[in-house]
Amino acid sequence: MSTYQVLLYYLYVPIEDPESFAKEHLAFCKSLNLKGRILIANEGINGTLSGLTEDTEAYMTAMHNSEQFKDIFFKIDPSEEQTFKKMFVRPRPELVSLSLEDDINPLELTGQYLSPGEFKEAILDDDTIVIDARNDYEYDLGHFRGAVRPDIRNFRELPQWIRDNKEKFKDKRVVTYCTGGIRCEKFSGWLVREGFNDVGQLHGGIATYGKDPEVQGELWDGAMYVFDERISVPINQVNPVIVGKDWFDGTPSERYVNCANPECNRQILCSEKNEEKYLRGCSHECRVHSRNRYVVEENLALDAWKQAVESLGETFDMTSHSLS
Ligand SMILES: [Zn+2]
Repeated sequence: MSTYQVLLYYLYVPIEDPESFAKEHLAFCKSLNLKGRILIANEGINGTLSGLTEDTEAYMTAMHNSEQFKDIFFKIDPSEEQTFKKMFVRPRPELVSLSLEDDINPLELTGQYLSPGEFKEAILDDDTIVIDARNDYEYDLGHFRGAVRPDIRNFRELPQWIRDNKEKFKDKRVVTYCTGGIRCEKFSGWLVREGFNDVGQLHGGIATYGKDPEVQGELWDGAMYVFDERISVPINQVNPVIVGKDWFDGTPSERYVNCANPECNRQILCSEKNEEKYLRGCSHECRVHSRNRYVVEENLALDAWKQAVESLGETFDMTSHSLS
């Protein structure tokens, strides 16, 4: 039985003093035993929380009773447990960053809002380009069928990527999507300012699309990446498939781990078997890195480490490791 709920929400709305607001809001969240992460900026609020159903309901009621936050739309997932360990409320210069000198205010400039039904039609329309506004590792776990995958590891790289690939999209209708909608509010506004003249965005993001009674997540392939301990959640209720591929052998996988090299930390999909075989290293350099976390966690002796690397046909320099 699910006695907990996970909330995902944002609102672009002026907040005057993010520092002091964040302090007060943290105390409020703690009084309700909520866990999660909330960002506060002059431009608004963005949060994801978990808590007992009654506590999350009390939170939503309180927010809706305030004039400032009455328009927040909460996406709600049932859960069997808390999906965060701690509660953070952090003041930030921006809710999401495109690294723009002249930032976009979505309250003034943003793409046309599309309902899940309208967005589904856009996916099926050959003359519409669907761009995933998330990071590469999010796309790789699941995405809308046929969507463009920007080759970026962070949202702030997106404008440059679009400029580098502009030839492919100009003069076309462009629609964008992200997890909950917050990134697209800014990104679609930026596309309009860049000169794209027909720009749409999935209102409420993938999370809303997956719960919509009409579309029921159809045309979504794979799972959706989420930024809590669940890591992935299902979206397509009609005909789900797995699109995630094991980093090492390409077999279907939805299991994410971070590369064991602390200086790399890349998120890769892989089976438990391959994690062991490749010492959770995404590359040779990461496998033999002197601070490989897998080697530390598993307490691997130097000989065993060497043997594992050599069994992959790679070389292991014993001297450089015994020195470290
Ligand atoms: Zn790596």
